[in-house]
Amino acid sequence: MLKRRRNNLTMKKKERILERDGWKCYICGDDMCALEIHHIVPIISGGKDNDSNLVSLCRECHIAIHTDDIERCVKNAVYVSKRRLSEL
Ligand SMILES: [Zn+2]
Ligand SMILES: [Zn+2]
Repeated sequence: MLKRRRNNLTMKKKERILERDGWKCYICGDDMCALEIHHIVPIISGGKDNDSNLVSLCRECHIAIHTDDIERCVKNAVYVSKRRLSEL
């Protein structure tokens, strides 16, 4: 049996979300780091395990989003995506 985890998302579901988001962080677009699944509306606030409530985030952005550091994170993301666009 699988060990019980903190969240109850199945591997299949995680993969589906990651696939949808292109295996990149939804905020900064990083695809070179370990990705985690984040609930946009936390379960504790009535959020559901719906695909639309789930996003792929890299560890850094995930920590930032949970520590109210998201403003800096978003600024960073805008910078990163602009840089990415200019690289294309
Ligand atoms: Zn990120
Ligand atoms: Zn989260």
